[in-house]
Amino acid sequence: MKAHDGMYIDGAWRPAAGRDTIPVVNPADEQIIAHVPAGTAEDVDAAVRAARAALPAWAATAPAERAARIAALRDVLVARKDEIAATITAELGAPLPFSQAVHAGAPVLVAGSYAELAASYAELAASYAFEEKVGNSTVYSEPVGVVGAITPWNYPLHQIVAKAAPALAAGCTVVLKPAEDTPLTAQLFAEAVHEAGVPAGVFNLVTGLGPVAGQVLAEHDGVDLVSFTGSTAVGKQIGATAGAAVKRVALELGGKSANVILPSADLAKAVAVGVANVMGNSGQTCSAWTRMLVHTSQYDEAVALAAEAAAKYGDRIGPLVNAKQHARVRGYIEKGVAEGARLVAGGPEAPCEQGYFVSPTVFADVTPEMTIAQEEIFGPVVSLIRYEDEDDALRIANGTVYGLAGAVWAGDEVEAVAFARRMDTGQVDINGGRFNPLAPFGGYKQSGVGRELGSHGLTEYLQTKSLQF
Ligand code: NAD
Repeated sequence: MKAHDGMYIDGAWRPAAGRDTIPVVNPADEQIIAHVPAGTAEDVDAAVRAARAALPAWAATAPAERAARIAALRDVLVARKDEIAATITAELGAPLPFSQAVHAGAPVLVAGSYAELAASYAELAASYAFEEKVGNSTVYSEPVGVVGAITPWNYPLHQIVAKAAPALAAGCTVVLKPAEDTPLTAQLFAEAVHEAGVPAGVFNLVTGLGPVAGQVLAEHDGVDLVSFTGSTAVGKQIGATAGAAVKRVALELGGKSANVILPSADLAKAVAVGVANVMGNSGQTCSAWTRMLVHTSQYDEAVALAAEAAAKYGDRIGPLVNAKQHARVRGYIEKGVAEGARLVAGGPEAPCEQGYFVSPTVFADVTPEMTIAQEEIFGPVVSLIRYEDEDDALRIANGTVYGLAGAVWAGDEVEAVAFARRMDTGQVDINGGRFNPLAPFGGYKQSGVGRELGSHGLTEYLQTKSLQF
């Protein structure tokens, strides 16, 4: 696989300061496909300086010009969609029997969704009121400054676009430190930024290890805002560092979302969509509805439906991203069994000799206190929990430290909305509502601070100044 051996800093690929590299592994066959440089403090410092130097001119650029660059970026992402999809498949893994679809149909949709997101920021930057009259004041929305963006591997391009596009639209400059497992997608993104004609220094990329390059970036004095997506453990550390420096911070962290099926719902549909929601991306989705809450009267039927739905996946889901996640997820499945939950599909055994695969797994008889009902597993594992009445369902749904997403199913929307409004969570899909790239996404409680996507995502990168007349 093609890889750059340097960092994208100040508009060009420059040699890394150190010699260490990070191997990139294809999780489907465990083969090394490339190496990328492991950034040091020196690389991060050079990137932050470039971003700082580029800030005044980019911040002063008319929003329409920034919008034009983002629109050009969208066009490059569309033109290079096949390469992007093949790269994501290689470094993140892909369902083997679906390789045909992944290499043919899916990339168009996948790249299209990223392009849609970049396009929405092009429109927002062009139409957003960066200036507002309030009584005898004029309130200006100004860019926060230099953004340190730290992203995970599970949706490698989406998570970069969700930070870089609004940051650039707002007039900020960016230094990106992507996840160790998916740096090739980040390098492709840097190439796309370059091709789109974004001025030198406005976007910079440093690949490297989290506790080295990531930490230096989060702590750097020249960074005004740290935007992080990843685990709650690292998020807490970054929040503390940012707090001590009185630096802005946006955190998109873990989740343990509830899929609440009310008795009036279409049970078969709710269970089928619920299982599919968890199995997608091999369960490596922070907003996945990993706890399925079912009324006691329908519980046995839901268990049978969920087991059947999971079994249908067979070996069609892709591997987990790396050996560590593979061991971690299998450990959670073993813990579920040890704590008394009943396996009705899948299990901890590896289904293949090669690759980091885990079978689609369904647990019944899960109680709200069990580890598998409380902690983020980040694998293809669904837990079915029984509830007695609506208040019981709400208590269970809200009974974790997380609050990122969720789902409610009911015979009528009014009933579902009434329940959703009582949930302590940032986003709820009603009767299988579709993904909306302009709807704010982010967590209540320990799922995070701040919002991404749409105009709410844009405002994270702006600060206000008021002039009185
Ligand atoms: P992580 O939090 O360790 O990594 C996310 C990003 O942070 C990566 O770019 C990493 O290099 C960087 N990082 C790591 N340590 C850092 C530090 N000390 N300072 C600055 N940056 C640092 O997550 P992970 O190890 O890739 O995954 C572990 C768990 O995190 C998963 O099992 C899952 O529960 C959760 N996760 C959540 C999301 C999400 O979207 N919310 C995404 C990926 C992982």
